[in-house]
Amino acid sequence: MTPEEFRQAGYALIDWIADYLEGVDRFPVGSPVAPGDIAGRVRAHPPTGTESFADILEDLDDVIVPGLTHWQHPRFFAYFPANISYPSILGELASAGLGVQGMSWVTSPACTELETAVVDWMAELLGLPAAWRTGSGVIQGSASEATLCAIVAARWRASGGAVNLSGASAMVDLVAYASAQAHSSVEKGLRIAGIGTASLRIVPHDANYAMDPDALGALMAQDVEAGRRPFFVAATVGTTTSMAIDPVARIAPVAHAHGAWVHVDGAMAGMAALVEESRGVNDGLDDVDSYCTNPHKWMGINFDCDLFWCADRGALLGALSILPEYLRSRAAESGAVRDYRDWQVPLGRRFRALKLWFALRLDGVAPVQAMMRRQVAMAAEVARWVRADERFELPAPVQLNLVCLALGAGNAATDALIEAANATGEVLFTRGVLDGRSVLRWSIGGWRTTEADLARAWSLLTSLAPSIDAPRNPVGTDET
Ligand code: PLP
Repeated sequence: MTPEEFRQAGYALIDWIADYLEGVDRFPVGSPVAPGDIAGRVRAHPPTGTESFADILEDLDDVIVPGLTHWQHPRFFAYFPANISYPSILGELASAGLGVQGMSWVTSPACTELETAVVDWMAELLGLPAAWRTGSGVIQGSASEATLCAIVAARWRASGGAVNLSGASAMVDLVAYASAQAHSSVEKGLRIAGIGTASLRIVPHDANYAMDPDALGALMAQDVEAGRRPFFVAATVGTTTSMAIDPVARIAPVAHAHGAWVHVDGAMAGMAALVEESRGVNDGLDDVDSYCTNPHKWMGINFDCDLFWCADRGALLGALSILPEYLRSRAAESGAVRDYRDWQVPLGRRFRALKLWFALRLDGVAPVQAMMRRQVAMAAEVARWVRADERFELPAPVQLNLVCLALGAGNAATDALIEAANATGEVLFTRGVLDGRSVLRWSIGGWRTTEADLARAWSLLTSLAPSIDAPRNPVGTDET
């Protein structure tokens, strides 16, 4: 491709992207294809000659788009959002065009220094503790990676670093704690770190699905008594199934009294701190060891972008830094710069700071704040509709932009409703389970979602819902 061809193709692609995003609601939200359909449309062998960019654009429409779940669709109510914005897309493009691999300061000083600056901006915008406002954070690919980094840093601290040299066997009795509502990445991180699922204690939760700090203290005391070493507590601000908020301010002192590291996973709900009235999601953060939240979920920043702050940088670097000869630099040895490769699992790293820098400068946070406020109000409105229809129940408190609802007729009816609604292509919901009860998670996070989209989705649910004469579910019908 010549530079001139690149320009022409690039202009065409930008047009294609804007057309796609502005017309995304013409597609079924979830892809209707069957397994293998898309693979069957891609030729079995690599091309022998070259093709035109127009052919590729055509295939984007004909081969790829039919196999997409449209995350930017206004009636995408599944999982948590991964909303994007035009400035962020441009930041991604700039990153691709620069082709920088920013593993060390010396491999592109701007990549490192811009990252430090924009992460500090975010700490300020989110109202994070003053101690984290300058140079304490880093961009990770995902909350899962942030949690893994926190686990290995906690283990490093618990072992005084011995585990780095002697392997996991240096500390066989480590115990971690999380509630059953914590994200699966906590258990996965423990597995990857070689600590294992068997060393994870499930802390009971209260009626609102938030961790019970007294129960945590009791479990930790039992473990200490039995000669085990509590080393890690994962608290969640905004659990995946129901957006429950663990009481971090009460959990941290209990965990610290037993010598454990406290990591707070605010992957989704942490972003709510961008609006003043939701700053309560930060309660207790000034007393924790590490924290993460994802602009790639609810701030319009393209995946991947997770912000990770760590109070004990010595433990993080102790666990993750390693220095082969070929990565030595005078700059790093002078102590005047940071090498972010030592703050993460992989060596290489993308220039992710650009998309935040573009978004914060071009759009600013005002539209994000307006979107969040709108969506919190929308969730409250949906909850009112649910309360007013006696076939439905709210098995968990409505928090921020998430509503969990269920049919009183029972799990089978709720599951059938989710399936039937999704099969229409009009909407996409995900199913969750709260203490054995199936729930339809209605997560409102799309930039383009309007009141009309909600009304259309609710009308669909009410028309599909089984008759109120169906037997009511005896489990967990408490309304909130
Ligand atoms: N933590 C919570 C509470 C989540 O809901 C999720 C995903 O939805 C994750 C962590 C994992 O996020 P990531 O995809 O950034 O690893």
